[in-house]
Amino acid sequence: MKIHEYQARELLANATVPVPSGAMVETVDAAVAETKDLLAGGDTLVVIKAQVHAGGRGKAGFVKLVRSVEEAREAAEFMLSNRMVSPQTPPEGLEVTRLLVAAGVDIDSEFYLAITVDRANGTNTLIASAEGGVEIEKVAEETPEKIIKEPLDPRLGLQPWQARKVAFAVGFKGKQVNQAVKTMLALAELFRSTDASLVEINPLIVTPPDESNPDGRVLAIDAKFNFDDNALFRHRDIAALADLSETDASERRAEEFGLSYVALDGNIGCIVNGAGLAMSTMDIIKLHGGEPANFLDVGGSATEEAVTEAFRIILGDDKVQGVLVNIFGGIMQCDTIAKAIVNAAGTVGFEVPLVVRLEGTNVDAAREILRDAKQELPTMHAATDLTEAARMVCSAVAVPG
Ligand code: GDP
Ligand code: MN
Repeated sequence: MKIHEYQARELLANATVPVPSGAMVETVDAAVAETKDLLAGGDTLVVIKAQVHAGGRGKAGFVKLVRSVEEAREAAEFMLSNRMVSPQTPPEGLEVTRLLVAAGVDIDSEFYLAITVDRANGTNTLIASAEGGVEIEKVAEETPEKIIKEPLDPRLGLQPWQARKVAFAVGFKGKQVNQAVKTMLALAELFRSTDASLVEINPLIVTPPDESNPDGRVLAIDAKFNFDDNALFRHRDIAALADLSETDASERRAEEFGLSYVALDGNIGCIVNGAGLAMSTMDIIKLHGGEPANFLDVGGSATEEAVTEAFRIILGDDKVQGVLVNIFGGIMQCDTIAKAIVNAAGTVGFEVPLVVRLEGTNVDAAREILRDAKQELPTMHAATDLTEAARMVCSAVAVPG
């Protein structure tokens, strides 16, 4: 699960990482009012930032520095009325409904700092670079030696000596070092205690020196956090931060019904029980020249209602030109699936070819239910094995160009 920058900033601030103050707003007027407050409070620079679950905002014109309420109004109007398109969004871009209005800061240097799971190494890993900012992807690709990685011990987590080593390695100087070390340790604790899969600060900045801070101040001015969905049950506070408008509507409905659903680009809808069987069903569809429209595992204990919902999700996808049901009933009973097919025929209707392959627990009862409902299921074909089912559904739909 992802959260917005303004939410991540709040988690950072609570973890004692210095973050410029700001507020989330949803209207142009509120953005203007917030800017007015910041300017009245002594700030001379304000930053307006689109809050969407994608990066690359700076280059796309969705992070703007303003010095007056007029400029703030213009920036807010632009962001709330245009979709944001960046290399990290779908081609049509993302709608922007929330903005962060925050105190702007002067920047001396920008660093990159993150903790994530390094699957190749089998550890959580601290990643840091002196080349922070909007070009970090380019740095990773072209000059990977400028990215420092420090693996974390699974039991001890990030140790202070490691944080110091990394702080020196990326070039923090003087009093910046302790500030950077504190930020790294706080970030590591946040990562651990929230079951995060990514906590990223980019950029972590150093402000220009001034009288009270001769070495400048180390501040987090952008943050991106992802959390392990499977651990959300023990982090109600984090789960409550979810912005449902940012997740695919079908995936959201599937989740509510306990279905594992991932939308794909093809035109053959699949309903399968078990992740392994779902994978092999997708493989065999591809083997016969087809393209799956989704991955959908109804699981072992799905109810008739949940399976009916699975059909609704698949049939609601305009791309779907055929449906393959492949069930090997173990704990899942084939008659539950058959009843759901009949329900779906009644409530949504199968206008596209439906190929059904059922085997296992209660298969005879299931076949009977489907036989009795033949009238309501004119596009249904029964297949006896998986290969036949895949051939049937692939020849029933147009092969995508
Ligand atoms: P992203 O492009 O989506 O990663 O958005 P960021 O929040 O990282 O902003 C992009 C860039 O805008 C940063 O790398 C900074 O260079 C610049 N920026 C953001 N906030 C400020 C600020 O308060 N002051 C200044 N001077 N620059 C900022
Ligand atoms: Mn950034």
